Amino acid sequence: MDNKKVLVIEDESNIAELLRLYLEKDGFTVRCAADGGTGVAEAKVFQPDLILLDIMLPVMDGWAVCRAIRQTSTVPIIMLTAKGETFDKVSGLEMGADDYIVKPFEVKELLARIHAVLRRYAPAEAGQKKLTYDKLVVNLDSYELIVDGKKVDTPPKELELLYHLASSPNRVYTRNQLLDEVWGFDYFGDSRTVDVHIKRLREKLEGVSDKWCLKTVWGVGYKFETTDQQ
Ligand code: CA
Repeated sequence: MDNKKVLVIEDESNIAELLRLYLEKDGFTVRCAADGGTGVAEAKVFQPDLILLDIMLPVMDGWAVCRAIRQTSTVPIIMLTAKGETFDKVSGLEMGADDYIVKPFEVKELLARIHAVLRRYAPAEAGQKKLTYDKLVVNLDSYELIVDGKKVDTPPKELELLYHLASSPNRVYTRNQLLDEVWGFDYFGDSRTVDVHIKRLREKLEGVSDKWCLKTVWGVGYKFETTDQQ
């Protein structure tokens, strides 16, 4: 997958460079603009996946930049505001900003906000029903199961069951919930149907990765257990 692109519009070069450093370390491709006018121009050329936008900027301030970008783009925008600067969250969001963060910020918090905003955008943009874990891809668009790089033939219901469990990792489902949610309310099978499908899935997935597994929760049901952070 291509790296996600972040445009940093920030006139304080030390902050901009610090952001570049941490974002690149986190796998993003970064471009910086030091004033509002350049920022608007770069947003068109660079086509970023997300913009970090300072408010106090030369040429055009962050609000004007935000308005200008919103005329042509729905790219997520996180505003950077200095401590003590009054930030009106409501007007910020009306202006089209997605979130804001107060400087000086914790890098960890900023990265968490960035990932949260990108996640909010991802499904609407791609309409993709695809989950990726260590050595595992469950794709409900193409109905493909890829295990350790190889396609494994899987009946639709097995794939749907795995997708359902893996889309809410570490959440426990009862057999009846799974019957309802995967097979549908008009299905007349019994809960052993779920057990049989889990068994067949396990045969395909056993020992593939130690980062996730289909786990039986005694007396309750099943969960897709994982330590793999998506
Ligand atoms: Ca500034």
